[in-house]
Amino acid sequence: MFDTLFLDRDGVINKKLEQRYVTNFDEFVFVKNSEIAIRRLHKIFKRILIVTNQQGIGKGIMTKEDLNLLHLQMQRKLSVDFDLIDKIYFCPCLEVENCNCRKPKTGMLENAKLDFPEIKIEDSFLVGDSDSDIIAGKKFGLTTIKVSAEFTLFDWLTKITE
Ligand SMILES: [Mg+2]
Repeated sequence: MFDTLFLDRDGVINKKLEQRYVTNFDEFVFVKNSEIAIRRLHKIFKRILIVTNQQGIGKGIMTKEDLNLLHLQMQRKLSVDFDLIDKIYFCPCLEVENCNCRKPKTGMLENAKLDFPEIKIEDSFLVGDSDSDIIAGKKFGLTTIKVSAEFTLFDWLTKITE
């Protein structure tokens, strides 16, 4: 069994929107087969954590409450009896704030390690679709996987389990 899977959200779990933020569950469209992938990954990873930049909050386009509701609805859609995603970390800050949590910085990963000190970095992975994800993951010592429309989370899962 692998240890921890860190997932970026937009572009990995759900489709990105053109020039705007996903602000509610009506706009949240799963990437093809990402639901199936997460259910299967849950069986081969000890825990799954999301680390997501959500600058829309800092811009006042949505609130933390909007985001938490959206994530609750996502969890309910993915899961039956229990949450498949163990914890969701988000950075609400604006890029100009130069905070420590916004990827490519590693603040969210560091917080996860504080919450789950048993995380074995050397046996953990980060999947993202942006360079900022990959940079953050590498800085933290994780094995990183860059996904895209051509190589999705489901495609990666298939590759590691075949
Ligand atoms: Mg992304």
